[in-house]
Amino acid sequence: MSEEKCIFCLIASGDIPCAKVYEDESVLAFLDLSPVHPGHTLVIPKVHYKDLLEVPCEFAPALLSALKKIGVAVMKATGATGFNVMQNNGVSAGQTMFHVHWHIIPRFDGDGLGAWEQGNYPDAAAMQTMAAKVASCLEK
Ligand code: 5GP
Ligand code: ZN
Repeated sequence: MSEEKCIFCLIASGDIPCAKVYEDESVLAFLDLSPVHPGHTLVIPKVHYKDLLEVPCEFAPALLSALKKIGVAVMKATGATGFNVMQNNGVSAGQTMFHVHWHIIPRFDGDGLGAWEQGNYPDAAAMQTMAAKVASCLEK
């Protein structure tokens, strides 16, 4: 997707309207069009990056600060007692908008939203083998 046709770039430039929640030099936050709960907010860098892997590490402080600030505001505004921060990379992971974004989803006790279905390793050795495999794939 080229940046000219990227909907989130067009939102960041003001060419497409949004329900803006927060903005600073490098970050924009606006309500998701199809909220899991009202107040569900998307946080994006104003610069186009396709996914997390393209985001420079220098963006981390601005992102973290925005996520914390907006998370608190979303809880206050909605009466939520918690929130999820979620970020999808790639079609297999559920990414549908290819301008990186972080979801802030307000949560309520007993709101019935499904948690991840989690399993087990067959044994401790299998778990250690997987840990070693991932570690060996880390770029030096
Ligand atoms: P993803 O599945 O890529 O992690 O999330 C994309 C999110 O963007 C979805 O939750 C979807 O509802 C939201 N979305 C898609 N198009 C628009 C739009 O034009 N405006 C807003 N505000 N949200 C959008
Ligand atoms: Zn974009």
